[in-house]
Amino acid sequence: MAARQNELIDSVRRALSAIEGPGGVDVVTSGMVQDLTVHNGHAWFALAIPPSAAKLAEPLRLACQDAASRVSGIKAATATLTHHRGNEVRIEGSTVTPKRAGVSSALVSETQPRAGAAEAIPGIKAVIAVASGKGGVGKSTVAVNLALGLARLGLRTGLLDADIYGPSVPHLLAIKERPQSLDGKKLEPIIRHGVKAMSIGMLVDVDTPMIWRGPMVMSALTQMLNDVNWGELDVLVVDMPPGTGDAQLTMAQRVPLKGAVIVSTPQDIALIDARKGLAMFRKTAVPVLGIVENMSTYICPNCGHEAHIFGHGGARKTAAELDCPFLGEIPLDLTIRELSDAGTPVVAAAPQSRQAASFMALAEKIAVHLKSEGGGASRPAPRIIIEE
Ligand code: ADP
Repeated sequence: MAARQNELIDSVRRALSAIEGPGGVDVVTSGMVQDLTVHNGHAWFALAIPPSAAKLAEPLRLACQDAASRVSGIKAATATLTHHRGNEVRIEGSTVTPKRAGVSSALVSETQPRAGAAEAIPGIKAVIAVASGKGGVGKSTVAVNLALGLARLGLRTGLLDADIYGPSVPHLLAIKERPQSLDGKKLEPIIRHGVKAMSIGMLVDVDTPMIWRGPMVMSALTQMLNDVNWGELDVLVVDMPPGTGDAQLTMAQRVPLKGAVIVSTPQDIALIDARKGLAMFRKTAVPVLGIVENMSTYICPNCGHEAHIFGHGGARKTAAELDCPFLGEIPLDLTIRELSDAGTPVVAAAPQSRQAASFMALAEKIAVHLKSEGGGASRPAPRIIIEE
């Protein structure tokens, strides 16, 4: 398996070495091709373009993508552009050194706007991230029900599951089919309960562990943002990967977000991570729309007794301390879990229920925010620059 993968990587590299880059040197020899990976027949790589060759960037990217996708055994290829200051990207032997410097501390946000990913998606008015400082707090549950709630309020809504560590939208919306392309260029999203959905889980084999590197994250994101036929949307809800590491930072910087919703349980340990999430978005200049307390109050379905299994009120307090809006509480409720697992989240299955009401209240707050902001152009993503 690994040998076959290496063979494919070598074949793609050979195909790419036929493409001439700036100064007449091919893109492999010049070290422009980075982080070349093949997974499930899909080739991913980044092209580090020196600023002096900025004009050539897009034609080169397309030529490289085309060449890679023609290699026998490769079903599709995605190349993303990264900027590089200077010219000394190296290649060691036949292996492209994965430049960890491409992410994390090397991600520098600049104030001047760039042609951001979402700006390149005509028709999407606003992109909202649903994020959490740690996994298991109900981020995906909130993202899905929020998207369904926004659709119920009449907004044309999309849901992009970018949780590369555990994409759960296919499960939550009972999506088994693979997205198809009608024109051979763009993938059609899968529509459930009036929401257009796309998940990283539909594009990669989630059962095969894979290491996500910065450029791959960007490739996958770019593909899901630009190569999906979203049509006209008032809002695209993005289910982010949990945490505040490289991948999350890359995404927060890459997607021109209108704002972020942070989900936390009331436990201290979750709230510490929620604070980190808030700090990450603030660092990347993404407005935090507020914190939601999930798994808040538990009401016993038999006797009606109210219990606070994970504590209560912690998120409201944290929000106040951090000068961030508090967006409400979602109860810890068996129905919410059962309907999610059945592939019909509560807002779709029982929109009039008490449980759905807490998600609808959240959706209304977000809808009001989008309206007050005019739902217009999103904040352009900051430029991503790879530091030496
Ligand atoms: P995350 O995306 O943060 O990892 P999930 O949305 O996948 O979390 O939720 C983790 C588990 O908790 C799932 O089984 C989900 O059904 C359950 N869950 C989430 N929120 C609630 C809630 N408010 N009440 C009951 N179960 C919940």
